[in-house]
Amino acid sequence: MTTSNSVDNKIKQLNVDVVIFGGGIAGLWLLARLRQAGYQTLLLETKSLGAGQTRYSQGIIHGGTKYALTGKLTASSESIFAMPQIWRDCLQGEGEVDLSSAIILSEHQYMWSTPGLLSRLSGFFASRITRERMQAVKKNDRPVIFQNKRFKGKVYQLDEPVLDSASVINALATPNINNIMHIKAVTEFSEKIVSVEAANGDIWNIVAEKIILSAGEGNSALLKQMGRDVPEMQLRPLQMVMVRGGLPEKLYAHCLGANVNPRITITSNEDKQGNIVWYLGGQLAEEGINRTAEEQISKAKKELQLLMPWLNFSAMHWATLNVNRAEPKQKEGKRPATSFYCEEDDVITVWPTKLALAPNLVNDILKLLEKQNVKKNGANEMPEFSHAPFADLPWQEEKQWL
Ligand SMILES: Cc1cc2nc3c(=O)[nH]c(=O)nc-3n(C[C@H](O)[C@H](O)[C@H](O)COP(=O)(O)OP(=O)(O)OC[C@H]3O[C@@H](n4cnc5c(N)ncnc54)[C@H](O)[C@@H]3O)c2cc1C
Repeated sequence: MTTSNSVDNKIKQLNVDVVIFGGGIAGLWLLARLRQAGYQTLLLETKSLGAGQTRYSQGIIHGGTKYALTGKLTASSESIFAMPQIWRDCLQGEGEVDLSSAIILSEHQYMWSTPGLLSRLSGFFASRITRERMQAVKKNDRPVIFQNKRFKGKVYQLDEPVLDSASVINALATPNINNIMHIKAVTEFSEKIVSVEAANGDIWNIVAEKIILSAGEGNSALLKQMGRDVPEMQLRPLQMVMVRGGLPEKLYAHCLGANVNPRITITSNEDKQGNIVWYLGGQLAEEGINRTAEEQISKAKKELQLLMPWLNFSAMHWATLNVNRAEPKQKEGKRPATSFYCEEDDVITVWPTKLALAPNLVNDILKLLEKQNVKKNGANEMPEFSHAPFADLPWQEEKQWL
């Protein structure tokens, strides 16, 4: 890295091996691993670290079990199978990145079925992933919610952890904070030079061997600004639901539906006052995109009343969140099976497609850079610039609760 002040004192130049756009899980995992590998790397973030999909994520480190619901091992379940162990090693401080300070919300999740569904899912229960990762849970060992006499289904424990995504972002970003620049905007792209206005008003010309776009939904605008129209992006919108008040316990569970997607996925967090907040995704969130917030809340209430009629609904308060999944374009807008990257003229565009798949994506990028013998000038120090702040979590923001 070299810096030089041009004639205009406000324009500064910085030479790096790799510049990354976006401080979500993909950008931050990349930054950590590229720095470790010896690449001089700078990450640019317009808002705050984790501000995109990552902070809305349910934090589930899928190992593919959910995706084996068809009874077949799809490409998706195959590539994701190894992910929980990779993450567990990192959480123990023994993996490719150090996540020992990240918070594990739950070591495992549950899957529960409603009566009548089991025979239709026989293929799923026979699959390798299911046999290796899932065990039926005896009544007394179940979460309290499923110990109620009126519960008639079966409960399985799934060997896949659930993480607090903000703490993961923190663990990845903090050791690399001097390499993260908070920017207002990208003013120009020309060949290998990226011109940006930093949050403090300084203008930087960043000269990089490789440019990596890991800005989630922001990738499309960056590509457009570069005059490119590929790779194309798709957005899969979701209307997530949050509920708090009168919840008996934290729960991390999928309700099996007749579909490849769970009927509802419940994860748990806390609001600023320490109240338990259930965060509801799955089919409910995918199908809820054309509903108003009130309609979506009413649907969520009905669904929970049907699945857990013994809960006391009178003290509950509800809110919804509209958020898009940003992914490479697929035929008929389908869910992509694996993480994605594509390189054209030293610009690499990436979408991990799942939080869990970030390590997989980053390994692919490292192999690509090694193969191309990209220079490694990692020992050089970074100059002073404004650093990006950390994003708040949605359940800790004061929203309007109905
Ligand atoms: C509701 C929801 C729940 C999910 N649950 C799970 C789950 O339980 N498990 C799982 O594995 N996956 C889950 N996912 C998917 C997962 O969250 C995403 O695949 C992953 O977080 C994407 O990370 P990313 O780094 O690519 O993008 P993002 O997290 O979207 O980050 C992009 C970053 O780029 C920044 N940015 C945007 N434009 C620019 C620009 N021009 N310049 C610089 N920076 C820019 C943004 O501010 C943001 O910080 C979920 C997704 C959603 C929406």
